[in-house]
Amino acid sequence: MILILLEPLLLTSKGLAEMSDPDPKPAAASHVILVTIDGLRWQEVFSGVDPLLLAHNSYSQQRVRLEDAYWREDPSARRHALMPFLWETIAQEGVIYGNRALGSRVNVSNQQWFSYPGYNEILTGAADHAIVSNAKIPNPNTTVLEWINNQPGFSGRVAAFASWDVFPFIINEARSGIPVNAGFDTATPPKSEREAWLNTLQQQTPSPWSSVRLDVFTHHYALEHLRREKPRLIYIAYGETDDFAHHAEYHQYLDAAHRTDGFIRDLWLQVQADSVYRDKTALIIVTDHGRGAGGQWTDHEIGIDGADAIWIAMLGAGVPALGEVSADQQLWQNQIAATVAGLLGVTPDLPRMGPSILGN
Ligand SMILES: [Zn+2]
Repeated sequence: MILILLEPLLLTSKGLAEMSDPDPKPAAASHVILVTIDGLRWQEVFSGVDPLLLAHNSYSQQRVRLEDAYWREDPSARRHALMPFLWETIAQEGVIYGNRALGSRVNVSNQQWFSYPGYNEILTGAADHAIVSNAKIPNPNTTVLEWINNQPGFSGRVAAFASWDVFPFIINEARSGIPVNAGFDTATPPKSEREAWLNTLQQQTPSPWSSVRLDVFTHHYALEHLRREKPRLIYIAYGETDDFAHHAEYHQYLDAAHRTDGFIRDLWLQVQADSVYRDKTALIIVTDHGRGAGGQWTDHEIGIDGADAIWIAMLGAGVPALGEVSADQQLWQNQIAATVAGLLGVTPDLPRMGPSILGN
């Protein structure tokens, strides 16, 4: 009698164990969107507009408009005003790391604290101490984009869109086979009326810079690709924040951060409206480097205090709803590549790759 009673119980617990761990490496997401916002400081992300810079005549033109748009006495309300999607949706349904005031730290591990070394670290999962400039040198390292594109089920389903014209070299478009629409690239040939229209607008719009286009073009080329081609892994690199900061245009830097937050909201609304992506897609947002504080906010490189401090936000399939992380914890930029791959259920053999933030 005892055996008969025990046997079903043993079978039941064994069955539950199998159900909870059916696969040693399940994919948490079928699709991943990786976004970078160039040189956006953790200070603005977590506290909104910086009152010292807002009050500084050299940095903040249009103060009345900026105060109306972004100034609130309460820092929590201030960051909501600057980046409403980040704080109303991502921080509620996803996770955001890097608020150093709460003990959550994220840093770059490279020793340069500027863009090419940072993007290399994000995309390859390791700092390369031989990368010491932003020159257009084809990256000798394999990115997680390239590695994933070579896996069954991913071939031809990885793409990159970037505002900065160095990305075809960082991703090594020629070797990797990853299509990189960057700088002032058009959609060639255009595959839709919308792409043809974007090509026309981009060619007819004056740009403040010669090597970086305005993010609105990067954004809409990427959205159009997403809508039509349904990539499994898409990388979108926005750039305006960094260039406006270098120009010491604090008002433009704030507006760019606010606009980019809106771009990411549009991206997510499109994802959630598409049955291919809905509830199966993870979004990861990170930056290539921080910037200095006070009067050094315009700059970043080794020696500018704090320019190695970054932040990471994630939302969607496979992402725990931890909200704003307040634990005493150190994360690194070199963990992004493994996190992207882990969400998709694959394990790249990239040299020295940092571990996934999510442990997968
Ligand atoms: Zn820069």
